[in-house]
Amino acid sequence: GGGGGGNRGLDRLGTTLSSTHDLEGMFGVILDTAAITLGAKAGAVYLISPSGRDVRLEVARGYEAPERAALRIGEGIAGRSAAGVSVLLPSERDPVSPSRPVEPAAPTAIAVPLIRGDRTMGVLALYGRSIPEPFVQDDVATLGSFAAQASVAVENVLLHKEAQRLSITDGLTGVWNRRYLQLTLTKEIERAQRFDRPLSVLMMDIDHFKLVNDAHGHQVGDEVLVELTRRTMSTIRGQIDSLARYGGEEFIVVLPETPRDGARVVADKILSVIRHRPFGEDGDAGVPLTVSIGVAAYPEDGSTADELVRAADLAMYRAKEAGRDRVEVAQSH
Ligand code: GH3
Ligand code: MG
Ligand code: MG
Repeated sequence: GGGGGGNRGLDRLGTTLSSTHDLEGMFGVILDTAAITLGAKAGAVYLISPSGRDVRLEVARGYEAPERAALRIGEGIAGRSAAGVSVLLPSERDPVSPSRPVEPAAPTAIAVPLIRGDRTMGVLALYGRSIPEPFVQDDVATLGSFAAQASVAVENVLLHKEAQRLSITDGLTGVWNRRYLQLTLTKEIERAQRFDRPLSVLMMDIDHFKLVNDAHGHQVGDEVLVELTRRTMSTIRGQIDSLARYGGEEFIVVLPETPRDGARVVADKILSVIRHRPFGEDGDAGVPLTVSIGVAAYPEDGSTADELVRAADLAMYRAKEAGRDRVEVAQSH
């Protein structure tokens, strides 16, 4: 029962997909439904790699596929379809066969691209049949309907992930953004309060950064910001401390479980990894850089996120006034 079965399959698929959020589970549902509807023995879902040069196997059903399997664009059934076309096997016009071991050996197969807008995101493929008849052109159309739904779902999941990532991290450097810092700092202060634990905050501002941009250009300035976050990250405790971009060339480090003296030591370490050698190219061609840092501690210098950040900021300005490339500690005690 071709069309009728296909529609029932698609209805089920629609309700399941709208409630599924992880890609792998979703691909499994798509594959199972398509395979049952079209009487396929095996199937696979592929996604185009970020480079666009190959398709990577995401989920395989009904056969043993190697780990981390991939096909070049144009290779085998799925690779051919990744160029944006439907593929039907057997075909007199276009002799093509599965590319083992990524694809299973099969005398009949179909593959359709997963397309959104003008972009191919991946491939949905079915291999072999449990009945003696090979796949026909009608089956390609049915699989195309599955692919259309799958494409919407895949795109939604990817967009959702991307939106989540973008809303809490800084696009240039990848560290937390100001919004996330606010959340994290508020949470850490609550924790420090509840368990009566220390907590410190560093405000870091690059010295004479305008001169870096003027002398080397904004692009080099941006690269310096990226390297600065890398050097800073290598100095702090990865799983415990948080680094956030607070403004253009201002960064905040949140140091849980760290009293003022400990925070001062961390700040001095950051000064020295920044000062240690020029940024960019190895050797003399690089950009020499220093930063100024202000330290504020909970609860002495503030009991809210805003108060602590303000206290660290004031201390940082005193470091600037005192000659830059140094640490100053808040003076509210
Ligand atoms: P100092 O802090 O030592 O007083 O001097 P400064 O030159 O760093 O002064 P200020 O903090 O006032 O200026 C910040 C400059 O940082 C302004 C702008 O040219 C540069 N800047 C801010 N955000 C970015 C960015 O995202 N990329 C680049 N390349 N430059 C930025
Ligand atoms: Mg500044
Ligand atoms: Mg500055």
